[in-house]
Amino acid sequence: MLIDKYGRKVNYLRISVTERCNFRCLYCMPEKPFSWEPKENLLSFDELFMFVKVAIDQGITKIRITGGEPLIREDLDYFISLISNYNPNIDLALTTNGYLLANYAKKLKEAGLKRINISLDTLKPAVAAQLAQKNVLANVLEGIEAAREQNFKIKINMVPIKGLNDGEILDILEFCRKREMEVRFIEYMENSYAKGTIEGMFGKEILEVIKNKYTIKKIGRTPNSPSFKYKIIENGYEFGLIDPHKHDFCEDCNRIRLTAEGHLIPCLYFDEAQSIAKAIKQKDIQKAVAILHDVLANKPKENRWSEEESETSNRAFYYTGG
Ligand code: SAM
Ligand code: SF4
Repeated sequence: MLIDKYGRKVNYLRISVTERCNFRCLYCMPEKPFSWEPKENLLSFDELFMFVKVAIDQGITKIRITGGEPLIREDLDYFISLISNYNPNIDLALTTNGYLLANYAKKLKEAGLKRINISLDTLKPAVAAQLAQKNVLANVLEGIEAAREQNFKIKINMVPIKGLNDGEILDILEFCRKREMEVRFIEYMENSYAKGTIEGMFGKEILEVIKNKYTIKKIGRTPNSPSFKYKIIENGYEFGLIDPHKHDFCEDCNRIRLTAEGHLIPCLYFDEAQSIAKAIKQKDIQKAVAILHDVLANKPKENRWSEEESETSNRAFYYTGG
């Protein structure tokens, strides 16, 4: 079992398989000029899997594949099948922008993927093109349908941004409700790579919009998750709100992050990370386990986003996987 110095049980590994992305979301990616980590610095799927195996043996029970955009890394289904075959009981999930999902949904299902979170910030093609800086909406909607056809458990992520998609909170909510998918509204988190002019909505502002139409009841926080669940009294639909400017989810945070280059990151906000790349390349599993324990020993108590003094993290979301 993996326990950090604050006594938190860590059983959730998020793996960013690439920092690259086919979108340039205003709240996530820097504008050009842009330099990616050279491809030769990435760990292969077999190398990443060497670490995943020990992580599972040490107590990891939940794994999420993310990015950048994970579906642009070739043979992702191979990586998923390695994990699923090693331990079919792992709660194995993917976060994607959905653009390539129509081509992949069936393969991912066959490989053993269980759940998919898809980012959908708008139902308007022009707003989607403005947010992602590319004409993306039709493909994303096709991807969502393909995932539904494969009977994946789906959650939709929306980041409401003032003046862009803030008028679509109810539209996205109804879109998800009709399709029996949970929507999670995510507060924009300040970071130095986002376009400077954008301004997100705070959780309380998002809730106000929903309260104008519905009566809502706070159910409580999903255990070990930053998401607070709410229920609409009129129809029973449940949605989530991710509010990182509060720290109440840090106290039972159960996650660590691994990047494609082999950096183990103890907290989304923090810059402290250690590399397992050399240990893995040398097949020194004991060393990799020692680094894992050291990273856990240095996992911070809480993140540093707060409503009063929103600091700006230098850790890019497209790099850590959000
Ligand atoms: N490319 C995939 C996607 O967009 O779903 C996976 C990676 S993305 C970094 C993971 C999640 O982080 C997405 O739901 C995205 O909306 C969210 N995200 C990115 N930048 C963010 C920010 N500045 N504040 C809040 N959420 C953000
Ligand atoms: Fe790419 Fe996801 Fe970041 Fe958008 S949020 S730029 S899709 S990594």
